[in-house]
Amino acid sequence: MKIRNILILLATMSVAWVATAQRVSNTSAYPRLPIDTLESATEGVKIITFTNNTWEYYFPEREEWDKNEIFTENWVTDKVAAYKDDVKTLPDEMELTLIDDFDDFHPPYIGKVYSRYGYRGRRAHGGTDIPLDRGDPIYSTFAGKVRYAKYNSGGYGYLVIVRHFNGLETYYGHLSAVNVAVDDYVAAGQVIGYGGNTGRSTGPHLHYEMRYRGMTFDPERLIDFQEGFLRFQTFAIEKSYFNVNSRADEMLEEYDDELELFAQSGDELTSEDILNNIEKAEAERAAEAEPKYYTIKRGDNLGSIARRHGISINELCRLNGIKSTSTIYAGKRLRVK
Ligand SMILES: [Zn+2]
Repeated sequence: MKIRNILILLATMSVAWVATAQRVSNTSAYPRLPIDTLESATEGVKIITFTNNTWEYYFPEREEWDKNEIFTENWVTDKVAAYKDDVKTLPDEMELTLIDDFDDFHPPYIGKVYSRYGYRGRRAHGGTDIPLDRGDPIYSTFAGKVRYAKYNSGGYGYLVIVRHFNGLETYYGHLSAVNVAVDDYVAAGQVIGYGGNTGRSTGPHLHYEMRYRGMTFDPERLIDFQEGFLRFQTFAIEKSYFNVNSRADEMLEEYDDELELFAQSGDELTSEDILNNIEKAEAERAAEAEPKYYTIKRGDNLGSIARRHGISINELCRLNGIKSTSTIYAGKRLRVK
């Protein structure tokens, strides 16, 4: 269990949700020109006012998302599968930022988990099932953009897939209706559809998946569905998690143990002491693990780059999820630490 995963186990019962961008139709005779940008009640969201007395929300961070390859690549809106990757191409561990100043969390649905990630008899179950009443609202877990929103004949029934700024995707299946369209930006906590029993389903429930580059992992690693909170702000996701035999249990037991250890480690530790300890450990770890990048120049090869940074070619390949035989191009960035 990594300290980083214990860190800031803030029970982010944050329900504050950012209203969705609304387009107000231009019915006025006045031309619709922007007049002013105002702060809204939600941090990171602004309001633009127009000459015809209309207004709309403006999310500056979305422009940042669109510069991010992990967010924009493999944008496929008519199929569930967007990636052709194999788990082998992933680095052993990746650090995902789940929420930050701009990006919030909202549970997709609060309820008792009825069927967990993992094998059910001989069939692999790639998500978490939570029973619900037909028509209950289903919320986007984080902010993001809708990649898929329609009926899926492969078993999901009405399905919404949202891609988030860190490349993570969340799937919401068996819905009775979808409430968003492909390419819509959504806020955390926005209603993306309504619970149902469509597709291969034997009773109204939400089938919820988390995927990274198309590969599933146990959503209970991150979310306590029954209490409705996010366990971590940042999450170190390990390659071994992308395996339907790999459930959250062990990780969560360690997580509880670590919490207890923290609690026992002082005579009278206050919760503030614990938080300070966690913060300190996190800062030390961050200083150590700070990744470094190198931009490939003409004439470089993997050997010369590895040598220059005091690492082996294997290590260089591992850090970048490439093979020693991969071709490299000047101008591309490689992680060297
Ligand atoms: Zn399911």
